[in-house]
Amino acid sequence: MRIGHGYDVHRFKSGRKCILCGVEIPCDFGPDGHSDADVPVHALIDAMLGAIALGDIGKHFPDTDDKWKDADSIELLMHVCLLIKNKGYALSNADITIVLEKPKLSPYISQMRSILANATGVDIDCINVKATTEEKLGFTGDGSGISATAVVLLLS
Ligand code: MG
Repeated sequence: MRIGHGYDVHRFKSGRKCILCGVEIPCDFGPDGHSDADVPVHALIDAMLGAIALGDIGKHFPDTDDKWKDADSIELLMHVCLLIKNKGYALSNADITIVLEKPKLSPYISQMRSILANATGVDIDCINVKATTEEKLGFTGDGSGISATAVVLLLS
């Protein structure tokens, strides 16, 4: 068994697409970034890379490389799944927490889980996604940004 943890933060920017766990959420702002800035998927990728001690997302997909500009983070996630498979491991389960004030994510959670389960090749019961506010505190609370954490367990 291997355990991994991931964390990511992006600033919100007006006019950016809001793509979270592969779901495009109707919103007039979204996370800013070099790729599609899918914050929870970045946290999940870091958790998976962490579990097999392969560094972090910046090492594998540097934001200085134009190859990853506007990259679909779900495709990056699928690439990381291959790395895990090559190391002889498979995802057992993942638990993701998204912290933001707005928009409300509850209508999209099941679609998010389904997309992540498909991308990682596990049953939907093995993927949990939850969203919480931070009670108006800090950069997530004042709406200037979004953060996400992920914990994964891999089995050989
Ligand atoms: Mg990121």
